[in-house]
Amino acid sequence: MSSADYRDPATVRRLLDAIAGTVSRPWTLMEICGGQTHAILRAGIDRLLPPQVTLVHGPGCPVCVTPVGVIDQAIALAGRPGVTLCSFGDMLRVPGSRTDLLAARAAGGDVRAVYSPLDAVAIAGREPGREVVFFAVGFETTAPAAAAAVRQAQALGLANFSLLCAQVRVPPAMAAILAAPDCRIQGFLAAGHVCTVMGLAEYAPLVERFAVPIVITGFEPVDILTGVLHCLRQLEAGQARLENAYARAARTEGNPAAQALVGEVFEFVARDWRGLSELPDSGLGLRASYADFDAVRRFGLVQTPPPDPGECRAGEVLQGRLRPDLCPAFGSRCTPQRPLGAPMVSSEGACAAYYRYRGQAA
Ligand code: SF4
Repeated sequence: MSSADYRDPATVRRLLDAIAGTVSRPWTLMEICGGQTHAILRAGIDRLLPPQVTLVHGPGCPVCVTPVGVIDQAIALAGRPGVTLCSFGDMLRVPGSRTDLLAARAAGGDVRAVYSPLDAVAIAGREPGREVVFFAVGFETTAPAAAAAVRQAQALGLANFSLLCAQVRVPPAMAAILAAPDCRIQGFLAAGHVCTVMGLAEYAPLVERFAVPIVITGFEPVDILTGVLHCLRQLEAGQARLENAYARAARTEGNPAAQALVGEVFEFVARDWRGLSELPDSGLGLRASYADFDAVRRFGLVQTPPPDPGECRAGEVLQGRLRPDLCPAFGSRCTPQRPLGAPMVSSEGACAAYYRYRGQAA
């Protein structure tokens, strides 16, 4: 099948009919990934589903879950003489407690948007007189590239390259959402691209522990509706299993070479998530053997306590407790041009998705 086939209106109609014929009572499903959230809003899938099916949006936007304190660390680094702070473009407009990286650049900081951590390594090689820091933000999908960058810097003997590491892992966040006493999520659409790297094994314990269906799901309308259908079939039958509805890309074992690379450079660490607080084993931190590449250690950075979020309710949005357009600031005091929080900035943010596809008056 070509990618167009995964948007085929006739197939979408068939899946919607199958869903309507399956569902007999209300169910609430969460799609984990911000890319899926944007696909759902873009195609209007949430409005095409039967009224018994509610889709809520999960914390799968890495920019959005990066805590303000770490963004403040990046901004502080960008202001140091001799430091070049590199990150993906999305991060540059995410507000810290007082300002953002774009403003730090306007104030004279050397802040550069890159497409890959390896670009930052190349800058370190070209400019040996500067300390080059890559602000590593992302889920398991970006971890192999961050690990490769560290290995490359080591191989090249670059003593002026380091990572400010905010890499996170999806399964601990799902566990935290499911463990909440008032959790209303009854089934998950897991992020297919994460599974192309990590495989399926990490999800089976969640299915067993919480008795919740998890369906590995892709990003096109046909993928998402297939994931919804498989999830609903399980729920209606009283089952809870791990299913792969994205087998064309995600194999059971994932990508062992990428996993080995990540495992060599990183280890599991506790990490703060915006909206979910600190979760054990939810982050990737540099192993002791690569500690020389840790920007926190190299620059003696300390993380300050998170500031009051003001009127931004990103924490509730990221847990699926608040639909973005129901935030009082949505579309008025908070817009992509003047964001109050990361979910309105990021290309994977739920608030940005509602603003883009439903408009200001969503
Ligand atoms: S709409 Fe803006 S203020 Fe409200 S939760 Fe989203 S980012 Fe925060």
